[in-house]
Amino acid sequence: MERTELFARSIGEDTDIVEKEMYTFPDRKGDLITLRPEATASIVRAYIQHRMYAADPVQKFYTIGPMFRRERPQKGRYRQFYQINAEVFGVASALIDVQLIFVLMTLLNRLGVVDVQAHVNSLGCPDCRPQYRRALADYLLELDDSLCKDCRRRRERNPLRVLDCKVPSCRKAMTDAPSILDHLCAVCRRDFDLVRESLDSLGVGYVTDKRLVRGLDYYTRTTFEIQTGALGAQSAVAGGGRYDGLVKVLGGPDVPATGFAIGLDRLAEIVGQQKRLQPKSPDLFVAALGEEGQRLAFLWSNRWNEQGLWTEMDFGAKSLKSQMKRADKLDANFVMIIGDNEIKDGAAVLRNMKTKKQVRIELEKIVESVRETIQQH
Ligand code: AMP
Repeated sequence: MERTELFARSIGEDTDIVEKEMYTFPDRKGDLITLRPEATASIVRAYIQHRMYAADPVQKFYTIGPMFRRERPQKGRYRQFYQINAEVFGVASALIDVQLIFVLMTLLNRLGVVDVQAHVNSLGCPDCRPQYRRALADYLLELDDSLCKDCRRRRERNPLRVLDCKVPSCRKAMTDAPSILDHLCAVCRRDFDLVRESLDSLGVGYVTDKRLVRGLDYYTRTTFEIQTGALGAQSAVAGGGRYDGLVKVLGGPDVPATGFAIGLDRLAEIVGQQKRLQPKSPDLFVAALGEEGQRLAFLWSNRWNEQGLWTEMDFGAKSLKSQMKRADKLDANFVMIIGDNEIKDGAAVLRNMKTKKQVRIELEKIVESVRETIQQH
């Protein structure tokens, strides 16, 4: 919970979030409090309140937790949803924006999500945005009839918001709207060129999206969204950008900042749609005989699991035959038997169930040797 004014001041009065979606209540003393609709404002509030900039203005934060917006619930859109937020304070260079986009794309890549695309845009700065705002307001003046009720109101107070209205007639009317990229000042243009060149050199695919303004007022320069075709109408998995003015607006020093939010519910949804990445069968089944065999099998299996080898064993004192049946059922790639004979011998046999090849492994170095043999395979 935060005081309501924090969100009104940081997110902006003319935004959907503040106008329609916040869960706001008076507390027992009549102070207005709000369940946070996003995390950035709270993180900035904490950064200022605890004077974190005093030790070092450059700080990185993350948070994972629930957010609350009174939106119309549908697939991928909930009134309580979860976000992973990452914020970097004190770095003015656009390279850190690129790094955030790279982190997001790498995360999605590692999760095996393929149907995603980075969209990037620049929102300019206080020097060039007002001029663009006027150009856009002039364009909107001509459009009267085709805009929805909200956009007719936004037209004057916050014309940029009309660009990301989802109402189809508004979207159509905005096809030929002037682009902010034609209105950037020299500094912002160079900055955005650096973003695109750096994404290119990192091999991150992206599209330049002049409509991408996002709903929040405090964004400056780089803005980005990761979109997917896998979620129907709710295409944004993550979004973020630079908000250089916000720390100062909320009473802190003039510190630049940038960050992103991932929608965790949406991320879970698209990850769930991907083909299973996990292997279907264990790397190794250890058949253990006798008390000492069980004890050793237990110790070693835990080590192998810890090192990333999926290892299974039977925890009951079953016969060798029934343990081998189980290994078969699990379709284990390798099987090893450890019992009194092996302990006496000081060695066990590791059998590749696919090729039927067997290797003898000394018990002394068994944890490393088995891992190496299986990983080389
Ligand atoms: P935003 O703060 O609106 O830029 O949202 C950042 C991310 O949070 C979006 O890209 C979505 O993935 C997710 N998100 C936003 N609103 C909702 C919602 N009502 N339900 C589920 N996820 C959401």
